[in-house]
Amino acid sequence: MPLYQRIVRDVLTPLALWRRGETAQLRFEREFERTQFLPPEEIRRLQLARLRSLLFHASDNCPFYQRRFEQAGFAPGLLRNLEDLRALPPLEKRDIQEHGADMVARNWPRSDLIRNQTGGSTGTPVTFFLSGARKCSRAAATLRHNRWAGWEVGDKAAVIWGAPQDRPADGWRSRFRNALLREPMWLDAGCLTEERMVEFHHALHRVRPHIIQAYARAVVMFARFLQARGLTAYQPHSIVTSAEILEKEDRDLLEQVFRCPVYNRYGCREVSVVASECSAHAGLHVMAEGLYLEIETPNGPAAPGEMGAVLVTDLLNGAMPLIRYRIGDMAAWADGPCPCGRGLPRLERVAGRVTDFLVGADGRLVSGVFLATYVVAQRPSLGQVQIRQHTAGAVVYRIRPGRDFDPIADGEYLREATRRRLGAGAVCEWEAVDEMPAEASGKFLFSRSTVAPRFLAAQA
Ligand SMILES: [Zn+2]
Repeated sequence: MPLYQRIVRDVLTPLALWRRGETAQLRFEREFERTQFLPPEEIRRLQLARLRSLLFHASDNCPFYQRRFEQAGFAPGLLRNLEDLRALPPLEKRDIQEHGADMVARNWPRSDLIRNQTGGSTGTPVTFFLSGARKCSRAAATLRHNRWAGWEVGDKAAVIWGAPQDRPADGWRSRFRNALLREPMWLDAGCLTEERMVEFHHALHRVRPHIIQAYARAVVMFARFLQARGLTAYQPHSIVTSAEILEKEDRDLLEQVFRCPVYNRYGCREVSVVASECSAHAGLHVMAEGLYLEIETPNGPAAPGEMGAVLVTDLLNGAMPLIRYRIGDMAAWADGPCPCGRGLPRLERVAGRVTDFLVGADGRLVSGVFLATYVVAQRPSLGQVQIRQHTAGAVVYRIRPGRDFDPIADGEYLREATRRRLGAGAVCEWEAVDEMPAEASGKFLFSRSTVAPRFLAAQA
């Protein structure tokens, strides 16, 4: 490891943590390095112990959970194994919106409540609080998962990201601090214009970051752009994608253009990193020391390989417990051990937001992102495409037509693609627009269904 990087890792970063009163992060880092290799049954034992104490704490200090436990006839002392948690109903986003204040622990020091908020890109924002210690354990978890992708503290990184609250602050003081601590260089995915992408391309060759971390769709768009321009992409050690689903086709394209491995990651603002790929690229290991994850189908817990809704319990945040929180994503468990030897459970795949899913004529669930990007957008004359759904078995395509758009032939192509993906009885309409509305968050909205969430809730 180069000398300056060692100084960043062993001296400057610990100093910065000490100044902020966050040295607990270093303790969590050491702990998580060790616990990731515990056998699966020991990790489950650790989860059960943490879950038990969280439930007692919530029952003693959070009015919302006192009521909820009582209504469900549940008491923390009844919990014998992790599965017993299913006696409680899932925690919905609207529960937090309506009763968030009653979820904050009454005995928690007000000075130790760190406010955070989800972006509004997929509905109403949710406000929640975490403790200082949880902030530290989240950072430690992220660093561990970075390490799986060959990303050490002090490595240079470039970030293609959209969430404005994550952006490094401006001003010489923070710029100096960021340079000193090797904070990543930044490309705003909210405005991926051609000029910005050219600038970023040159900056990558100049700065030579070890890692690129990116919104999946944004870096795919960047790769397509480089390819179309015939530009030789900068080759980093690896690419870490997150915030959106990564289709196999996306990964193939990225690995071909950037000539490096891609590590997919799944996280959310409420609980930070949820799961990440290790170098075996055989699914995503869950951050199980801090999170208890469940995947629920309409018929109960999902079997390995079976897709269902993700529920998460944050085992390390006593400030405002989230118990069986429905994140709004779909995922499936992987089966068997990982060749890397880690005992952390694995997700086989993460299939994106529930609202990304379209409901077919026969009740089947189809990824709207896949339909938009790999079926419809394969036809250049259709240009840019967004899909909306308000009725099962029916979709509306909003298109910004390409140059050779032909209403009759392209209309027939859409009808055929719809029937092929959503079932024989499926119907569609299309409307042409001049401008495709962009999401403020920098995520690309390909598909939005108001039917899928209702459909899944009705079956649960
Ligand atoms: Zn592994």
